[in-house]
Amino acid sequence: MPSNSCPSVLLIYTGGTIGMIENPETGALENFNFDHLLKHVPELKRFNYRISSYQFNPPIDSSDMEPLYWAKLVKIINYNYNQFDGFVILHGTDTMAYTASALSFMLENLAKPVILTGSQLPIGVLRTDGKENLITAIEIAAARNDKGEPMVPEVCIFFENRLMRGNRTTKINAENFNAFRSFNYPALAHAGIHIKYEEHLIIRPDTSRPFKPHYLFDTNVVILSLFPGIREQTVSSILHVEGLKAVVLRTFGSGNAPQKEWFIRLLKEAAERGIIIVNITQCASGTVEMERYETGYHLLEAGVISGYDSTPESAVTKLMFLLGHGLSHTEIRKRMNMALAGEITPNIKKKR
Ligand code: ASP
Repeated sequence: MPSNSCPSVLLIYTGGTIGMIENPETGALENFNFDHLLKHVPELKRFNYRISSYQFNPPIDSSDMEPLYWAKLVKIINYNYNQFDGFVILHGTDTMAYTASALSFMLENLAKPVILTGSQLPIGVLRTDGKENLITAIEIAAARNDKGEPMVPEVCIFFENRLMRGNRTTKINAENFNAFRSFNYPALAHAGIHIKYEEHLIIRPDTSRPFKPHYLFDTNVVILSLFPGIREQTVSSILHVEGLKAVVLRTFGSGNAPQKEWFIRLLKEAAERGIIIVNITQCASGTVEMERYETGYHLLEAGVISGYDSTPESAVTKLMFLLGHGLSHTEIRKRMNMALAGEITPNIKKKR
């Protein structure tokens, strides 16, 4: 059981650059085992914490991440929920934002920190960013507020010096250590000499309800990104994929799309066939306002719903999650309009 005097953290290693080593023949980075990783962070022993670990065997490059692995992570967290104060998930950076988003929906009414982190350079490399990321993530997972409650009972990504709500993050850099951003929601904490928490921004659980893990996903979804010149046949083929149930439509600016007759017609027909179409912007920052321009208004009339200021990672995992629960079309549309885990800001004031 977690104790007040000695915080306990479960470290879950899924794979990713942080634990990789270079293949001497090809020079490519490959997954390596967890002991190797721990050997390079002797500082962990200096924590006055009980740190246990669980590793994926074999570890995976996060490009291979799948909903099945998300369910596995939820299973591990649920199984150990009462034994630990917090959880740190070591994960490849490439799909970390998808996993963080998915977990934020799957771990309903979470009352403990689940902090994902990784690195751009393997832990065995001299200039690695992995060590600091790991050490600070553990400290955050164990942190408590004045009332003795977990400081950040949310699924978060900690990277470089920022703690961000997981379902608000996007990987924005393939090279810099500062690889993640949360454009539409402020960081929950900044790590400098001290870790400075923004307590007013952190979601607290509803203490009248228990923590509830979920496992089901339906992957009959697609992300369709618009571009000038997109062909009717392309859009039509995508919207007619067998079994398709939902589309994340990445539009321009504040939710605008071509006004061509065929485009609006294809969307309208798809919506009438029961396909849920969610409008999010291709811009990294800002929100969809379909009422703002005529081009967006036509989408609204065609039955497209707003994804507000959602990231693509959050919109697609939320749809998979809701579809996985076999909810009705109306119910899914309703929940896409609500923040389930702080992933959207639905009630942004209209400009006109
Ligand atoms: N390809 C790696 C992964 O996502 C990259 C990383 O960890 O940064 O697993």
